[in-house]
Amino acid sequence: MTQNTISSLTKEQILDIYNQPLIDLLFEASKVHRLHHDPKKVQVSTLLSIKTGGCPEDCGYCPQAARYHTDIEKNDLMSCSQVKAQALRAKASGSSRLCLGAAWRNVKDDADFEQVLEMVKTVNSTGLEVCCTLGMLTESQAKRLADAGLYAYNHNLDSGEEYYKEIISTRGYEDRLKTIENVRTAGVTVCSGGIIGMGESAEDRCSMLATYAAMETPPESIPINALVAVEGTPLEEQQPVTIWEMLRMIATTRLVLPTSVIRLSAGRTGMTEEGQAMCYMAGAGSIFAGDKLLTTPNPDVNKDMELFKILGITPSAPYEKGEQPVVKDEPVILNTHPEEKVKWSRPGHKIERNEAKRIRKNNP
Ligand code: SF4
Repeated sequence: MTQNTISSLTKEQILDIYNQPLIDLLFEASKVHRLHHDPKKVQVSTLLSIKTGGCPEDCGYCPQAARYHTDIEKNDLMSCSQVKAQALRAKASGSSRLCLGAAWRNVKDDADFEQVLEMVKTVNSTGLEVCCTLGMLTESQAKRLADAGLYAYNHNLDSGEEYYKEIISTRGYEDRLKTIENVRTAGVTVCSGGIIGMGESAEDRCSMLATYAAMETPPESIPINALVAVEGTPLEEQQPVTIWEMLRMIATTRLVLPTSVIRLSAGRTGMTEEGQAMCYMAGAGSIFAGDKLLTTPNPDVNKDMELFKILGITPSAPYEKGEQPVVKDEPVILNTHPEEKVKWSRPGHKIERNEAKRIRKNNP
């Protein structure tokens, strides 16, 4: 039995939890949530896209993949001063964390990474928790981010290992797990979760939760996203998940990983306020704020604050669940670990949906 999970649950056992009558599942999840968390506190994160679009990967849900023809506005890497301005805005609007997202396959030991390290130091100095989501990461890169004052690193498993192959062909599940391990080794907290509504089964969702439950230390933060189907991506025709599916997923995650903070992430614009309130009761303890989540829409932060007021919720202050990392100001040296030549995999899973999309595009 690990510290944070109710037991080393198998996928089948988690599926039994998932499939119980919803009324019972929600009640049990709400009880467990109150044992480990203050239900009147919700952590608010702002997600900032510091480099948008042009990604070489083929994640079937993502409008930032260069190979799909979507309407997003591409942007090069932001400057530190732009990031600082956004950090101060986020702090003033009630966020306790700023998450910096770059559409990269993996981090490279180059000038862009040095710039990101400066951004991390800058945001840390504002008193906000700093999170990054930059793709795959080596152990030494994770260590450098930790030294710059990084509090959390986001790297989602997206789905269970079996279904993952239907969504992404350009890197493997093992690569994802390796990055999470590197982050953990560097002493940075882990943010890792999934997306529902990509065509996966309940079994696939539970398989992902079983992977997290089997970790020696499960992620401190687990974002649960509902797919926002974007025109031009292979998943553009997916129907939105119902609030009942979202509640079932959040409640199951709550019971399987009782101490992790569950973040109600993408897809909130499709939910009513009542639906979101039920998500908080079922165990969600965090949201993303801001009118955009990287490239997809998100509710206005004032609306979130109004709902918090109705429910008697207050946003958490930074570092309520951990200590602010001390920035170690070391001289900037490019490529400090040239010996660390990691070969991330290129598994080349064949995804029929992507193939069909490519054929349609070439034969209009
Ligand atoms: S999800 Fe990340 S890695 Fe995948 S295509 Fe989008 S930006 Fe690239």
